[in-house]
Amino acid sequence: MDENTLKYHRVLLEKVADALKKNNFEDVSVVDSKEQAKEKILKLIPANSKVGAGGSMTVRSLGVMDELKKKCNIVQHSVGMPLEERKKIWHEATGADFYLASPQAITTDGHLFFIDKYGNRLSAIIFGPTRVVLVAGYNKVVRDLDEALWRIKNVAAVKNAIRLNVKTPCVTAGKCMDCNVPERICNVVTYLLKRPAATDYTVILIKEEAGY
Ligand code: SF4
Repeated sequence: MDENTLKYHRVLLEKVADALKKNNFEDVSVVDSKEQAKEKILKLIPANSKVGAGGSMTVRSLGVMDELKKKCNIVQHSVGMPLEERKKIWHEATGADFYLASPQAITTDGHLFFIDKYGNRLSAIIFGPTRVVLVAGYNKVVRDLDEALWRIKNVAAVKNAIRLNVKTPCVTAGKCMDCNVPERICNVVTYLLKRPAATDYTVILIKEEAGY
């Protein structure tokens, strides 16, 4: 990535970080790379902690879960697990010491957007875990509410539908077709205006592209 683009990402993310702080997310930082984000998370989470996570591609792209597995109790479902088994894991994850996730969009005025099929991740990022760790690449930054809602449906959800190999019309259309099929992955949207008051957050913004 050229130097000017990196500087642009730094300026953009510093503005988002300031806006998040104004919205009461106190522990917000901007890092240069996914590697630095990973180091930060590993430093933050002590050994023997219970760590919950959903299926975030951003978190996966850091390679942090493999390191955490060596020292922590990880509570995370895997693809193909029966729903009843997953539900037990999701309940347990809401009582974790830390929960790792990524928003699908962040506005420049510091509002965070998440979209989900089941809502397990959305409930965990609001209340339950002692500290929620949110990680996002610069590619998640959008101008405003309208752009955020557009992005979560037409970029994040479509890429996830392709990843999950579901038979939804967006997979071939390349944009949201507001489907009504059982495989639909967009049933719940959560929008954090300000920090939910009973939960602590660490937000890490990465100058690199990360996740969907
Ligand atoms: S077509 Fe369905 S699954 Fe695909 S993005 Fe739209 S609502 Fe989500």
